[in-house]
Parts: sequence; C-alpha cells; structure tokens
Amino acid sequence: MTPARRFVPGPEHREIIFLTGSGISARTGLGTFRGPDGLWALEPETEQAMHAGLLPDSLPQLWRVWGRMARIAREHGPTPGHRAIARLGAPVITQNIDGLHQAAGSEVVTELHGSALRAACLGEACLWSALLEPGDGSRPEDHGVPASCPRCGAPTRPDVVLFDEQLPPQALDLAMRLAQRADLFVAVGTSGVVFPAAQLAPLAAAHGATTVLVDIDPPVGSRELFDHVLAEDAHEVLPDWERRIHQVGGTSFLDPFPA
Ligand SMILES: [Zn+2]
Repeated sequence: MTPARRFVPGPEHREIIFLTGSGISARTGLGTFRGPDGLWALEPETEQAMHAGLLPDSLPQLWRVWGRMARIAREHGPTPGHRAIARLGAPVITQNIDGLHQAAGSEVVTELHGSALRAACLGEACLWSALLEPGDGSRPEDHGVPASCPRCGAPTRPDVVLFDEQLPPQALDLAMRLAQRADLFVAVGTSGVVFPAAQLAPLAAAHGATTVLVDIDPPVGSRELFDHVLAEDAHEVLPDWERRIHQVGGTSFLDPFPA
C-alpha cells in the first residue's frame, strides 16, 4: 500500500503555498458541504438559500446558517493541519469561510469564498465590512452587526460568496500570484480536480513548482494533475512535514520524534 519513497518537502522547497478546502476543517465538526453527510444533503433548503438570486429575502437564513458555522468554528478551533501550516509560516489560499487559518496563527490567508466571521454590505459598490460576533439567530443584530450599512443604509449580509456570485477579484488575483511564486504547491482537503485546484496547481507547476495533493480519499483524475498524491490524513502528514522542516532548520532539539 505505502509507496517505497513517500514525498516529503526538501531544502529546495523554500516557498511552500497551501490551498485548503473543507476537508482540513472536517475534524472541527464543521463537516463538508458536499457528500452524503454534507451540509447540503442534511439541509437541502439551506443549499437553496445560498443562491444569490434569492437575496435579499434569504438574508435571515444566511445569518442563521453562517452565524452558526462561525460559532462552531470558534468553539472547536483549528485542527492539527491548520496549526502545522501556521507553524510553517506558509501563505494559504483557502476556500473555507471559517477563519481557522487565522485562528491558528497564519498571517497570509487569501479567502476565495469570503468569511463567515465578517459582515459586508449588500450594496454592490459599497465596500463597508466589519468583523462580527458569531451568535444564534437570523438577524444581523444577533451577530453583533447593524441591520443597515452605516455608510449607505443598504442591508448588511454575511461576507460569504454565494452560488452565482463572483469570487472576490483581489483574492483571486493574490491566489494566482502566490501559485506562481511557489516552489511547492500543496492542496489539502479540497477536490483537486475542480476549480480552483484544477487551475492553480497547473499554474504553479508551469512556474516551476512541485505540486502535491494530500487527501485521505483522492478524487479520480487527481493523479494526472499533481506530481504527488498522498492518500493520507493531512492531520498526520502536515505536522510530520513541519517537524522535518524545522529539524533541517537546526531546531532538532525540539523534535520529540526524530526521523
Ligand atoms: Zn453600504
């Protein structure tokens, strides 16, 4: 089962960039959205409310769902995978809206799908946004946010990208620039064969990066897209990489598990 030479980062991988999806947060109890146990299967009416065309009528449901999501994330905190990425000091491109990379201490986090820990304005041209306090309930006030934008008076909303909405252009632009400067591009807990991994991994490879997918159950087709596919638990793989890299960096006396 185990390949004879399992991939581990080497000294040539100076700039590691991670792309993460819901799989890295699954241990927090947030679950994933798709699949038989996913949020969409358990609450089909919730999936329907996630379409941008239903705004503003869907706002109470959006506050309820994303507020709850943010609260669960805050209660459970980051996983071993989040913490290892933060200790590596590696920039992260994430599809997650749970704020757990920041909670783990990562400083460069590009959120492709927004954040459930932030409120934004429904007004298209208005740039107001604010951190919120995740709570229970379907009103913005339940999450510490005014119902009307303080700048323009439009309703406020969770700052999460809905179906049929465009990804934030600045985040997408930064993600592409990060992918291009990577020596090692690592996708974790995200479906490796659809956007954004399917675009960002080849972009990184075209600029000289080694590409790796870490997924306990790699999707069909992923072996064509990545140089290495590790069908393993990211919460074991990433802390192992972090120990190895910091051992190489001269802090081996801190390593309780020498190779
Ligand atoms: Zn506004």
